[in-house]
Amino acid sequence: LACVIPAQVQGATQRLLCGLFCTRNYLFVVLHLILEVMVYGEYTWEVFGYCKELEYSTSLLLLPYLLLTMNMVFFILCSKTNPGIITKSNQVLFLHAYAYDGVMFESGIECSTCKVRKPARAKHCSVCSGCVHRFDHHCVWVNNCIGAFNTRYFLLYLLSLTSMAVFMAILTASFLVQVVTLSNMMLGYYADDQGQEHPVDFFFLIQYLFLTFPRIVFMLGFVIILSIILVSYFCFMLYLALTNQTSNEWFKSGRYKCSCLHHCSRHRGYKNIYSRGIWGNIAEIVRPVIHAEKKM
Ligand SMILES: [Zn+2]
Ligand SMILES: [Zn+2]
Repeated sequence: LACVIPAQVQGATQRLLCGLFCTRNYLFVVLHLILEVMVYGEYTWEVFGYCKELEYSTSLLLLPYLLLTMNMVFFILCSKTNPGIITKSNQVLFLHAYAYDGVMFESGIECSTCKVRKPARAKHCSVCSGCVHRFDHHCVWVNNCIGAFNTRYFLLYLLSLTSMAVFMAILTASFLVQVVTLSNMMLGYYADDQGQEHPVDFFFLIQYLFLTFPRIVFMLGFVIILSIILVSYFCFMLYLALTNQTSNEWFKSGRYKCSCLHHCSRHRGYKNIYSRGIWGNIAEIVRPVIHAEKKM
């Protein structure tokens, strides 16, 4: 669109996008809070009361609030914990934490921006303006980098958020199913514009529920989509954690795949050398590596 959009507008758009994505800011944190307030507001205002009338157990109905509290705690921990920013004074702690694989991470490389010697698995984050130890990715939703020291909190944050969305979706869907079942609606008939009677079908039911409980059905649609995205993303992050890969390494590993069918000397295939078995990999997430280990 560069040829049709005036240069001044392009410059302003670029500055705006850079302000949103290239510098640390709270835009996505605020958006995240607004979405949570909307979903929980609707849950508290309507779903909770209706479910209580249908004699759902109180502890079951209070579970989303417990998950929300846990989510807030992990969010704050993930957002406020130093992910492992490498400085000149602490670089010695990280330099020998991991072995250089010689393919993705080469020894003796200095970061051109912050001038520290780059340890293996570290990457410079332009948003946080620093090299991060065991860099995973920069997360706009927590407004922080995800590195060696907060990956554990990020996974717990993601797990609690996924549980919140899935539980909310199941609870709301079960409430609507109860409403339909108790009213025996599926056995009834409805008249169309010409006055002809038809047995109630699935599409009529959705229309009826949407007109009777518009906010609840809208919220259910949102949490179902969110659940699908979050479950998929959590499974992906869990796979990375169990195989001791970072998102950055997983993304970059595609570049090193050999395109020829036989091993040739020109192509050095990438191999993850950091995996220490499932339990060892989990232990590393819980207790990040910050010094040289003899076996490495
Ligand atoms: Zn750097
Ligand atoms: Zn960052």
